[in-house]
Order: sequence, then structure tokens, then C-alpha cells
Amino acid sequence: MPELPEVETVCRILSPDLLGCRIERVTLNRKDVIAHPRASVFAEALCPKTATAITRRGKYIQILFDDRARLIVHLRMTGCLLILPREAPQEKHTHVILDLSSGLQMRYIDPRRFGRLWFFRAGEEDRLSGIHKLGMEPLDPELCAASLGKTLLRRKKMLKECLLDQQIVAGIGNIYADEILFAARLSPKRPACSLKADELARLAAAIPACIDEYIHKNQTTREDYIQSQGRSYRSTPFLKIYGHAGDPCPLCGKPLVQAVIAQRSSVFCEACQR
Ligand SMILES: [Zn+2]
Repeated sequence: MPELPEVETVCRILSPDLLGCRIERVTLNRKDVIAHPRASVFAEALCPKTATAITRRGKYIQILFDDRARLIVHLRMTGCLLILPREAPQEKHTHVILDLSSGLQMRYIDPRRFGRLWFFRAGEEDRLSGIHKLGMEPLDPELCAASLGKTLLRRKKMLKECLLDQQIVAGIGNIYADEILFAARLSPKRPACSLKADELARLAAAIPACIDEYIHKNQTTREDYIQSQGRSYRSTPFLKIYGHAGDPCPLCGKPLVQAVIAQRSSVFCEACQR
């Protein structure tokens, strides 16, 4: 599942082919991926709008238009946005096609169909997509030991669960939660309220450092992105913890252990992460 660094990559890759283009036609092969408004209204409302910006909030992609309307996309498990020539063969599971004035098409492809698209007119309030509930952005200077402490020290839940909670910090999923907790040398099982000041400071530093590192590692070319259908992430070979259960800990050499925490599989070092 794409997390913040992967969604950031998608925005950066799509940006040059999308910005300045007008949407001329919308084809909906599957209407159930459109969360708002009704599918027929969605298709009509998008034409003809010109995309002026593509941004990310948490794991959401936001495409802004010239009249201040916006299209929001959440890729969830297997969603993918590709910009391709009109004549490019249509992949299986292509649910939405936007014909762009450049002659290219932006296509939404999603084999498992958990991803969703929302369209909001200028000034229309978004209480539906979930963006309004998101917590701090990992790279926002607002995220610091003090602001994290304000939220975490009130919670008895385990740290891993808190990191996955999008209302605390946005954009972190199972993979980067494990990497962040290793970088901060904190056990995923620690109750959030038990963190000491130095531990909060380590966590507050590890979150942006990790996310920034993997955004950088994820950089890919447009060609590779299209080739892999936006699904082969460059950062995977660089992950230190996730997917490495049983491997030696990069710090102490003891085997990394795997446990189910908050219904998610977690990998960590029992010696280094306390
Ligand atoms: Zn270790």
C-alpha cells in the first residue's frame, strides 16, 4: 500500500504532464470508485477544467483546478494514476479515464478497488474524504517533541498504533511506522503515554528524517513509473526493518523479531528498541 513517500512520488511524476492541461472528457468504466458526487455529476463537473496544481496531504492526492474546484484521490491498497498516450493499451482494472487537452490521458487503475475519488466544487466543504480529520504532516515544522507529546502523552495505546493513526500524524503506514520506530530506538509496544522527554525528541526527529529519506530514495523516472504501473517502489531495497524479520538487526546484529501489534505485523529489535 502506498504510504506518504510513494504518494509524494506519484504527485511529482504526474505534475509535468498534468499541470496546465484541460480535462476534455471523462470516461467511467466503474462508477463505484467515485465517492462524491454521483458518478454522472462527477463526469460532467470535471469538464472542462484546467489542472493548476497537484499536492499531497497525508496519503491523499489533491488536484486543484483553475476555478478552485478540486479532485481528491486516495489510492488505498492497489490504486494507481498513470498519464499515458490515448493509444496506449488500456490495462485491466482501468476504472476512470480523463482525456487531457495535451492528447494524453490520465487513468485511474485499481485491481482491488478500495481506492476512491472525490470531486469538490469551488468553495464546497470537504467533510467526506477524511482529509479534514488528518493530523500533522511529518515534514511540517509544526511536528516537534512538544506537539507530539501533547497528543501521545494522553494515550495509552501502543506507539505503533499511534503512528498508524492518521489523525495524529498523517501519511505513515505499516512500513514507515516500523522504520521510524527503529530509527527512534523505541519499541512498537510502548504505551504512548510512557514516553520520556528525550524519547519524544527522538521520535519527533525520526519521523521527518525517515519520511524525507524515503521520499528521496523513491525518486524514479517517468518511464520507470509507467513501466511498473506506479507500483514498484524504489525505496523497498533500502528498508532496514520492514520485511526483515529474522535478519540481523543493523545496529546490534541480533535477529529482528516479528509480532502482531494493533492487528498489523510489526518487525523490530527487542534489544535496541525499548
Ligand atoms: Zn538491535
